[in-house]
Amino acid sequence: MRSVNWNMTVSFTVFLFCAVHSGIAQPNSYDLAITHSNVFNSRTGKVTAGQTILVKAGTIELVTASPGKYTAAKTIDASGRLVTPGFIDTHIHLTDVFGDYNKAPARISPDSISYYRKNLSDTYLPYGVTTVMIMGEPEAWLPVTIGWMKNPVPDCPDIYTVGGALISKESRKPYLNHITVSSPGEASKKVIEYYGMGIRHIKLYWCLRRPEFEAAFKTADSLGMRAYGHIDQNIMFMDTTLTIGLRNYEHIMTLDNSVIHFAQDGPAFNNQLKPVYGNRPVSFPVVRMEMWRFMQEHKRAALDSLIDKVAKNKTSFSTTIHLFAAAFGLSYFSETRDTSLTVVELARCKENFNIFMRYAKKMYDKGIQLRIGTDCPYGGKALLSELLLLHEHGFATASILQIASLNGARALGLDKRYGVIEKGKRANLLIWEKSPFMNYRNFLSSKTIIKDGVVLQ
Ligand SMILES: [Zn+2]
Repeated sequence: MRSVNWNMTVSFTVFLFCAVHSGIAQPNSYDLAITHSNVFNSRTGKVTAGQTILVKAGTIELVTASPGKYTAAKTIDASGRLVTPGFIDTHIHLTDVFGDYNKAPARISPDSISYYRKNLSDTYLPYGVTTVMIMGEPEAWLPVTIGWMKNPVPDCPDIYTVGGALISKESRKPYLNHITVSSPGEASKKVIEYYGMGIRHIKLYWCLRRPEFEAAFKTADSLGMRAYGHIDQNIMFMDTTLTIGLRNYEHIMTLDNSVIHFAQDGPAFNNQLKPVYGNRPVSFPVVRMEMWRFMQEHKRAALDSLIDKVAKNKTSFSTTIHLFAAAFGLSYFSETRDTSLTVVELARCKENFNIFMRYAKKMYDKGIQLRIGTDCPYGGKALLSELLLLHEHGFATASILQIASLNGARALGLDKRYGVIEKGKRANLLIWEKSPFMNYRNFLSSKTIIKDGVVLQ
């Protein structure tokens, strides 16, 4: 322990000196000190023991083995526990948290703003998620969510938004998270409007056709905004979107729709499904994972060459793997299990999921920047589930922690602020009771959650 009296004397002297000479507060006093910690470096994947982390005004000021003399308003002796950055979920929807279709509020009224913010926080923060990206929300909610984005608070994750996900005009009524742009001019105008509101990320949804897609992408790019594409349903193909310049992609599973062409492959794919599931309609997770079996059996070269191409272009992909695992009972949190499957069908779906995950690992090994994007109503639990699933499918613990922190920060263009425990980054930190390096099930271990330098639990 340090001598309190000595420090107080020094503090007082230094304070007087600074007050007189420069007006700067005493440099060796901090709001929070975390001592004797094993710090995970998400750049190198290495853990360094015996570190002191010093935090002031919500920012990490120093990470060192020899901090010298200092004072701290609060000290946590981590006594050899692992400390990692807070998790980043790069793909969430408020509609999952607040309800959609009939349940969604048309507007977030002023008297319910704090209720909804707490709701969002309870879904993510207790599980260690300290930053979230809303990948599409109703425009009517934007005044509130942009307000949250501009005014972060310690007891809620930092929130970013893309506004409404952009789609071209279609015959059906657009889903409430989508916004229609009817021409390239309208697409550019919408992006500029969002920029003016303080939004720095946009989402190009699969129903966005090429003219609007290119206009929105080019406008966003010229403004220094980041674009995220969900490329699906054979409307656009990744070959084209890579050429246009898109580098950030939503959901690993969407590769299937840039390999399987419904017009040519549809009959063969249906022939694959029919003997197994008969004529009854099967759920979305079942179909999408069957597509990975189909690609492995019939389109392996095309899939491999697409993976090579997206890897060469330094792309990022949000994961969204829990959603499928949960449907097949492969997750610790299976709230969304598909109960219509027979024992035989379920066994086959589990095999299909394994095929999918083998390719996910292949993508990672080839250098594609995977980042967590749960896209799930119970997002915090889903994120922990994704960490466990990645490990069960061959990812190393250090890689998983990178995927859940730095990779997300980089893909969001927020790596100056988040993703690594080092000077200048926000003090969004997790102190783990038990280390996942000892046993991967410790991803579920309880954690002390620190947001903006405030110790929450
Ligand atoms: Zn989504």
